[in-house]
Amino acid sequence: MKIAIIGGGAAGMMAAWQASLNSELEVYLFEKNQKLGAKVLISGGGRCNVTTGNNDLKKTLKNYPRGAKFLRFAMHEFPPEKVYDFFEDAGVKLKTEEDLRVFPVSNDGSEIVGVFEDLKNKANVKIMFGSNVVEIAKNQDQFVLTNHKGESMEFDKVIITTGGQAYAHTGSSGTGYMLAAKLGHSITELGPSLSSFVIDQHLGEELSGLSHIDVHFKSKLSDGSKIEFAGPIIWTHRGVSGPAVFAVSSLLAFEKLTKDAPHHVYLDLLPNIKLMELETQIFERVAQNPKKNLGNLFGGIIPRRLLNVLADKSDLNLEQNANEVSHKKLRKLVSLIKSYEIKIIGRGKGDEFVTAGGINLKEVDHKTMQSKICEGLYFAGEVLDIDGFTGGYNLQASWATGYIAGNSCLKNE
Ligand SMILES: Cc1cc2nc3c(=O)[nH]c(=O)nc-3n(C[C@H](O)[C@H](O)[C@H](O)COP(=O)(O)OP(=O)(O)OC[C@H]3O[C@@H](n4cnc5c(N)ncnc54)[C@H](O)[C@@H]3O)c2cc1C
Repeated sequence: MKIAIIGGGAAGMMAAWQASLNSELEVYLFEKNQKLGAKVLISGGGRCNVTTGNNDLKKTLKNYPRGAKFLRFAMHEFPPEKVYDFFEDAGVKLKTEEDLRVFPVSNDGSEIVGVFEDLKNKANVKIMFGSNVVEIAKNQDQFVLTNHKGESMEFDKVIITTGGQAYAHTGSSGTGYMLAAKLGHSITELGPSLSSFVIDQHLGEELSGLSHIDVHFKSKLSDGSKIEFAGPIIWTHRGVSGPAVFAVSSLLAFEKLTKDAPHHVYLDLLPNIKLMELETQIFERVAQNPKKNLGNLFGGIIPRRLLNVLADKSDLNLEQNANEVSHKKLRKLVSLIKSYEIKIIGRGKGDEFVTAGGINLKEVDHKTMQSKICEGLYFAGEVLDIDGFTGGYNLQASWATGYIAGNSCLKNE
């Protein structure tokens, strides 16, 4: 039996690995690049956040704004701890950082891709580098694959693992959607996920590079549903970025973010203290230091650069003596710390990490990854309508679905 896997990224490499375990199968891995795992190599800033150390399945699945239910079976079969063992057994020493992200100890993602270099030595696997699959046709029981050079080959089964369309220069340019659509599949709306935001205020000079360990986001989607998220952020020259921003961006993947219709988000810049407590704390400092410059009373509360911006908005003069300051304006400042409005007018262009949306999950069997529409066709990875937050969740989903797809070929042989 001949199997074609289209795309040598995370899901395709794992599917090929599993399928190769059955020596009866002839496995062809088509990769348009001249190397495996181009996107995996740049993931996690080159360190490759390979999975999560979060081993509570219920909690893990909460990190997928789309596809959580579909993923349940695959994540049960090949959960983060098994992914961890898989790479360690293959000789890659891993570490789990405090925030539960898992990386190679060497901080070198090429070790992860290196594991799959072994596929080249397997007698029943052929890697077709530089082969861009442009068409898949089904002829009764056989699939006919054609590449960009017009060369065709026949296969019994096909696994599409072409990824999403983010960072298209890595090779993941969204061709899988077109290949699947031609075989009868529907593709859900596609949107950018895990991106930074551009905001309408020019705070770059004042705040660029300033980070907060914990900020609480609140906003409302255009369908009226409320979203909330807490985590670290960093101000950039054009807006905001960081883990919490990425997570919020995936919740806003299908929202229009424009100058004319900005998305309003409210930031609680000090979520661990209640508004009244903060107010009391600041008024106490004012009362105890009547002759001090107001600007010197916020040490340990908020960074000076942020204070400057907020004071400007509250019309407060930070050079004034504390006892001369208007209480009304001070209250305004406190309320801004607890609810600072930013208007999102766009995303960092082309900087999204993943594509939200993809192959309609209703058309795929979650236990085998086989198409319900076209027998013998399978999917795995980001090409599916599955995406996760940052923290190793996207690669985890690709390993897990790739594992299932590769195994299903093996079982259904
Ligand atoms: C900058 C960046 C950093 C990231 N960091 C992390 C991280 O640290 N942790 C994490 O969990 N996730 C991370 N992600 C997301 C993660 O890398 C992807 O979700 C994951 O790689 C998807 O795996 P995949 O196998 O589905 O697709 P991909 O890894 O994108 O692989 C698809 C492959 O298919 C090939 N291909 C496409 N079309 C064809 C065709 N027609 N014929 C032949 N070959 C084809 C492509 O060349 C590509 O090699 C990051 C993404 C980016 C862009």
